[in-house]
Amino acid sequence: MKYLVKKSDGSSRWRGLKQLLRPNIASLKPYSSARDEFSGADAVFFDANENPFNAPYNRYPDPYQKKLKEKIAALKGVKPDNIFLGNGSDEAIDLLFRAFSVPGKDNVVSIDPTYGMYQVAADINDVEVKKVLLKPDFSLDVEALLSAADGNTKMIFICSPNNPTANSFSYEDMEAILQGFGGIVVVDEAYIDFAPEKTLLSKLEEYPNLVVLQTFSKAWGVAAIRLGMAFASEEIIAVLSKIKYPYNINILTQEKALELLENEKEKQKWVEQILAERERLVRELKKNPLVKNIYPSDANFILITVDEPEKIYNRLVEQGIIIRDRSKVAMCEGCLRITVGTQEENDKLIEELKKITEK
Ligand SMILES: *Cc1c(COP(=O)(O)O)cnc(C)c1O
Repeated sequence: MKYLVKKSDGSSRWRGLKQLLRPNIASLKPYSSARDEFSGADAVFFDANENPFNAPYNRYPDPYQKKLKEKIAALKGVKPDNIFLGNGSDEAIDLLFRAFSVPGKDNVVSIDPTYGMYQVAADINDVEVKKVLLKPDFSLDVEALLSAADGNTKMIFICSPNNPTANSFSYEDMEAILQGFGGIVVVDEAYIDFAPEKTLLSKLEEYPNLVVLQTFSKAWGVAAIRLGMAFASEEIIAVLSKIKYPYNINILTQEKALELLENEKEKQKWVEQILAERERLVRELKKNPLVKNIYPSDANFILITVDEPEKIYNRLVEQGIIIRDRSKVAMCEGCLRITVGTQEENDKLIEELKKITEK
């Protein structure tokens, strides 16, 4: 597999994945766990210093979550070897930095505004983030993103549907970036289940530089079990698997996720209810004079504009209603972000906002 990499003089050339990786990661010899060395089921285990009592929790979990990956692979139409599972998407984001970005030297390009974790993971890894503003209509500025990349840019981060702007980006624009940039393009699809747009997963084979992130934290309703997914070429997944903590997904999480996957219909039902409530929330908020603008949403939250975001945020807090003040974020002046709740929760929000108008 070859990746187009820009050199510092602006010219480009094709290189293998190995040259994109941090040199120490490319040559890393990973920890070999007891379960790496022997992974059969029907055996008596004396190799991991576990307690022989209290089955099944006495045994270390499957370090590669084989069963779970097979289920997810079948659901998503990819191969198990195209899947990395992490302690939330956050683990995958951090590992991508650790795999590709040389601290203090490399940089990443990211859209702005977007999810705050890319910046935090970059800061932790001492990697510069070159931020490229979205266009005024919140679409991707493809040219600006591509020209922001230089010889030390290993990754471009895109989030679609984007948090906090709530819109999805056009497939053509994302493909233009995948084609125009030879490093890794990370597309965070945390909210894809709520969007009418298709996932980019079907493009994995076409673009060896694509990494798609998804999560169990939103549509699947299990933020508490901490399970995130990264989908990419076998080559990239092998690198992430090599550098993760050996037993990063605990057995309770693996079991709970297997159980959820047996009942995908329930997730679908939740999504439908949330989408119906989102539309109702939008209709109701449009009637409230405090609300100046409601951005179109492809996610399970809406972004609204008001004149006095801080005041409204604080008034709601006094009533025990917590939304997110995003008014200090680039391009989001006056913006509040509201997650779609249950019917009763949304009613409460709508009522309290009405009361604020009356005061
Ligand atoms: C909520 C969210 C996630 C989920 O992160 P987890 O660590 O999987 O819970 C990922 N990306 C974005 C953009 C999000 O808003």
